[in-house]
Amino acid sequence: MSKTRTLAEPFKIKMVEPIRLTTEEYRIDVLKKAGYNPFLIRSDDVYIDLLTDSGTSAMSDHQWAGIMLGDESYAGAHSWEHLEKVVKDLTGMPYVLPTHQGRAAERILYGILGGKGKVFISNTHFDTTRANIEFTGAEAFDCLHENALDTATLMPFKGNMDIQKARELIKIYGKQNIGALILTVTNNSAGGQPVSMQNAKELRQLCDEFGLLFVIDGCRVAENSYFIKHREPGYGENTYREIAHEMIYLADAFIMSAKKDGLANIGGLLVMKDEALAQKCTNLLIISEGFATYGGLTGRDMEAIAIGLDEVFDPDYLHYRIKSTEYLGRHLDEKGIPVIKPFGGHAIYVDAGKLYPHIPADKYPGQALVCDLYTKGGIRCVEVGSVMFGKYNEHGHLLAAKTELVRLAIPRRVYTQSHIEYVIDVFDDIIEDKQKTTGLKITYEPPFLRHFTARFERL
Ligand SMILES: *Cc1c(COP(=O)(O)O)cnc(C)c1O
Repeated sequence: MSKTRTLAEPFKIKMVEPIRLTTEEYRIDVLKKAGYNPFLIRSDDVYIDLLTDSGTSAMSDHQWAGIMLGDESYAGAHSWEHLEKVVKDLTGMPYVLPTHQGRAAERILYGILGGKGKVFISNTHFDTTRANIEFTGAEAFDCLHENALDTATLMPFKGNMDIQKARELIKIYGKQNIGALILTVTNNSAGGQPVSMQNAKELRQLCDEFGLLFVIDGCRVAENSYFIKHREPGYGENTYREIAHEMIYLADAFIMSAKKDGLANIGGLLVMKDEALAQKCTNLLIISEGFATYGGLTGRDMEAIAIGLDEVFDPDYLHYRIKSTEYLGRHLDEKGIPVIKPFGGHAIYVDAGKLYPHIPADKYPGQALVCDLYTKGGIRCVEVGSVMFGKYNEHGHLLAAKTELVRLAIPRRVYTQSHIEYVIDVFDDIIEDKQKTTGLKITYEPPFLRHFTARFERL
């Protein structure tokens, strides 16, 4: 990277995909028909799609070339050999199971480790992780440091697990009832915040002390390595891949959605050290995903993931990736928008509870901001607050989430700096009308992962 201050993409564009900016009037109508849930909007009606960084990456010319080399043999495809080698090299673990997404890996692993009476402990369970655990009848507890929940405190590794809290939970529930300890890296649901190597080492010690299984959910392990290299003492001279390897190897098992740092549009991985556990997982894999050398994937998918897992550690790419996210965060911050700091790797999180203090949690301030960003700018994003994590008590009252956030997730290698400038500009309109905006009420919700399909009405 040159020393120039301009943040320029370390790639040029070989293929273009048109996007269309509609009128505000049109978008108001679209949103109403979608029950004020952006998951129910057609992508053609979206200008800048910040709903997720999952599966939305632009693939490189090398990945597209790899797609043409995909071996679609049912068993022992060379594309599988390629993927298996890349994953073994990265993780140092001997058993690699391909799945169609990260959640399939979760369903298999937590289906085996979970069940009624079991307890899982994580820095923060991602929503599909929690849902897969709770679906087995087990319980999922998040252990984040108290001050990490304050969206304004500056901590270099705000995604860390509170090891002391985890230890207390193990003592309360009994080590025989603990399904696993899961370190989510970076901590997606807690602002995409990084986890330190020190924290992973301490968790390893805790697991050794009680004889417990340590799982890394490493969907964004490359982005996390960037933060370790630049923030944690002792890692400045290591490559990003070396850092990722060191961290993953501390764990007993590794789950990854290839739709994130795999730079692919589909795919997941379930990797582990223990042979007996791998055998159980393989049996479930074959019943539900596919044969052990393709899981839920085509040969070309596996080729794309194998190449993506290599490209993601490119220093120029990672630098641009993290700096571009930071650029969005810094400019929103300068406008007075409350954002989680320090900025995470894949997304900027706006604290809608603070931005819209006149909307209480049970009227969903985050969902209100999500709707406002779509109406004003054709920007799609997602609420990470009481719509996603709220629960009801026995009287039907909402037990609100700890924070009412809105996530602006940045797809990898997709939008240019001018798209990001546009998003920053739309926030001027949000600020102008913030007193006028109102909350929402839920008119329909499913029992699990309600944010995907819930419908709302504006109050
Ligand atoms: C995306 C994600 C998952 C689930 O992966 P899918 O491929 O979407 O099924 C699990 N954990 C974390 C931290 C994630 O970000």
